[in-house]
Amino acid sequence: METCDVLIVGGGPAGSSCAWKLRQHGMAVTLLDKSLFPRNKVCAGWITPAVVQALQLDTEEYARERVLQPITAFRTGLIHGREVETRYPGPVSFGIRRCEFDDFLLQRSSARLRLGETLKSLDKRGKQWIVNGAITTPLIIGAGGHFCPVARFLGAKLGASEPAVTAKEVEFEMTPQQSAECRVRADTPELYFCRDLKGYGWCFRKGDYLNIGLGREGNQGLAEQLGDFCDFLRQRGRIPGNIPDKFHGHAYLLYGHSQRKLLDDGVLLVGDAAGLAYPESGEGIRPAVESGLIAAAAIVEAGEDYRHQMLQAYPDRLRARFGPEVAASGAMVPGFVRSMLAGALLGSRWFARRVVLDRWFLHAHQPGLQ
Ligand SMILES: Cc1cc2nc3c(=O)[nH]c(=O)nc-3n(C[C@H](O)[C@H](O)[C@H](O)COP(=O)(O)OP(=O)(O)OC[C@H]3O[C@@H](n4cnc5c(N)ncnc54)[C@H](O)[C@@H]3O)c2cc1C
Repeated sequence: METCDVLIVGGGPAGSSCAWKLRQHGMAVTLLDKSLFPRNKVCAGWITPAVVQALQLDTEEYARERVLQPITAFRTGLIHGREVETRYPGPVSFGIRRCEFDDFLLQRSSARLRLGETLKSLDKRGKQWIVNGAITTPLIIGAGGHFCPVARFLGAKLGASEPAVTAKEVEFEMTPQQSAECRVRADTPELYFCRDLKGYGWCFRKGDYLNIGLGREGNQGLAEQLGDFCDFLRQRGRIPGNIPDKFHGHAYLLYGHSQRKLLDDGVLLVGDAAGLAYPESGEGIRPAVESGLIAAAAIVEAGEDYRHQMLQAYPDRLRARFGPEVAASGAMVPGFVRSMLAGALLGSRWFARRVVLDRWFLHAHQPGLQ
């Protein structure tokens, strides 16, 4: 039987960040992931500077063998509406490929990796967990994303009653001809909101790779909205005519829109498993990384006593960082007000820069985690 101080289920940014920090404190960490890495993850691959800071990423070193696309501008607007370009004096975000980024973080964490291994069973004997009948540990971290089996163990009704965001995207390497036809600039991602403001589509070029997708609250009308969005991009001549039609979908929860229990004796959830993505933008990598690091600090402070009251610092600090949970309706502004606002405001340069970009997407008002 293998033993470890902490077992982490899931090797995405939440799990690997938590493992990395715990290893720095000398803890024996085993990380289990059902996939073999490098693996892909359905994602646009946009990270904000707070992620680079929290992970202490050496961007020069990272970019030597991987895609790290600096972003210095955005085109924003309504689908079929007027668009606005906002430029910044230097990089305000980066584009990464999740297959590279997640693998880099996982290998760097120096956790003991059990890849290609699904969490199948979780039993408790006294204060010890027995995982898959093969590993014993006093503490389990659920970092398995939206459908995390540890979240289910804590009572989450996965996919049933939760108001999730659903999204679809495609990422592909463009041929030289597609590259020549594509008018999306690599330093200028494009974001276009649905008329009801319940979601938005993006078109994001990272070197020779193009990522196109759309995410919305709920799963009603996602395929139609995505089809309409791609038609709109083609009509405007933004993307090549012959993009692949195999879009991949995934779901996740926005912070404050979920009722998942985050903590119990000897177990806690981080990242998408905990439902932490920013409600305005759907950015989930930053909260995944930050929650992994915040959890690691709370675990170290708890000594080896992992009763839930000893780990309470974790949800308390999450709340202090991301704010009190908002109503679980999924809609912060009534529908008709949204559509009036959309038409009037999204075409305004001031609104695009100060509200949509600086506040909703870049969170410029919230400094990175120290
Ligand atoms: C279409 C789309 C676009 C997005 N674009 C962005 C973006 O541009 N920027 C951004 O910040 N966020 C984006 N997000 C959100 C972001 O992808 C997630 O918030 C982020 O990946 C959460 O990280 P995580 O580590 O919590 O989970 P994940 O990255 O989902 O990792 C979970 C891991 O757990 C493993 N796992 C799952 N089940 C099991 C099991 N039973 N046993 C063992 N292992 C298991 C999986 O294999 C996976 O490796 C996007 C999401 C979608 C759907």
